[in-house]
Amino acid sequence: MNVLVVNCGSSSLKYQLLDMATERELAKGLFEKIGDQDAMFTHKRPDAEKLERVEPILNHKEALKILLDILVDAEYGVISSMDEIDAVGHRVVHGAEKFADSVLITPAVMDALNECAVIAPLHNPPNIQGIEACQAIMPNVPQVAVFDTAFHQTMPPEAYLYGLPYEAYADWGIRRYGFHGTSHKYVAQRCAELMGKHMSDLRIITCHLGNGSSLAAIKGGRSIDTSMGFTPLSGLIMGTRSGDIDPAIIPFLMDKTGMNYQEIDSMLNKRSGVLGISGVSNDFRVIEEAASKGHKRAQLALNMFHHKVRRVIGSFAAVMGGVDAIVFTAGIGENGIGNRDEICNGLEYLGTRLDTERNNCRGVEREISVEGSKVKIFVIPTNEEIMIARDTQRITATLIGK
Ligand code: AMP
Repeated sequence: MNVLVVNCGSSSLKYQLLDMATERELAKGLFEKIGDQDAMFTHKRPDAEKLERVEPILNHKEALKILLDILVDAEYGVISSMDEIDAVGHRVVHGAEKFADSVLITPAVMDALNECAVIAPLHNPPNIQGIEACQAIMPNVPQVAVFDTAFHQTMPPEAYLYGLPYEAYADWGIRRYGFHGTSHKYVAQRCAELMGKHMSDLRIITCHLGNGSSLAAIKGGRSIDTSMGFTPLSGLIMGTRSGDIDPAIIPFLMDKTGMNYQEIDSMLNKRSGVLGISGVSNDFRVIEEAASKGHKRAQLALNMFHHKVRRVIGSFAAVMGGVDAIVFTAGIGENGIGNRDEICNGLEYLGTRLDTERNNCRGVEREISVEGSKVKIFVIPTNEEIMIARDTQRITATLIGK
């Protein structure tokens, strides 16, 4: 069975085609700046040169048509006809409380996704656009939605409720949902496999540290707490997002500066985080470079990031009654040698012992704690695509008889 995995952002479309018999990647690629005259398209087969094109691409449907043409192209293609795509798996950011698992997309599911878009106005509409484009072009191919929020639906109310009047939850669905669920689930499963144990016997803290960052407390294979909340704005300080702040800051700033709520929202999402603190960049590589040359605010941004990750690790160890393993993943988690070192520095009271030699690695799956460390520490590159493809296969297998 071949599964096409699609991840649509507001102006982007990321894809991967996988052969599920071997879980082999057949091709992958990315459209950026969709809607522009100079949209960018890159397509890569594992065994061939990368194809790169710049051309006008009006919308996601047009991007998808280009993608399907390339997949069957004589030179760059990997399948001989579109019929060889058995199912499509879509990443959907927000499933609210309606979806605790991935689901076959039906008209009723589309209605529910549109309802979820009310509380995820930035994230769900492009996902829905991507699904509609696929439905229009491949009407007979089953489509599956895989949610970023689904894995965290196991959190207990004491973890997911905010201290607001209960009606905020009951009437408006305001609660902690958590994100990056597919990534947290994948790395936690791999962690258990690497430890030769069952997830049910483990307490794992997964640290997804990228441009957006979140931590999850995974006890017995279930997410019981996570740092992101109602939206992906909360929790840690991120590339451009503020993370947790005192909510009273918002009316204070509106009153003092005259900013309206859209301006505040834009400041919190786009001009805050390590970019806002350092004034240098949202990219940790650039910030580290500046800090190494003595840029004080760049160093401060790094210190804040490490402090806040450490703080959440401590609190998640507390809510789980201890921790057996800590996992680092995503751009910074997989590559940030110094970041991992700084974060772990001071966690020894939990029973962690980082091995600085083993930690000297990027983008590989590896234990980075010393032999015999009570709490194991791992780097595990995330693979959300394989999780989406596996769920798509599980849900559509009987339907398509493969
Ligand atoms: P992601 O959102 O998972 O793609 O992560 C993107 C972020 O990872 C970038 O903004 C960088 O800050 C960070 N990153 C990538 N490579 C490195 C590296 N070698 N060292 C530190 N940070 C890195």
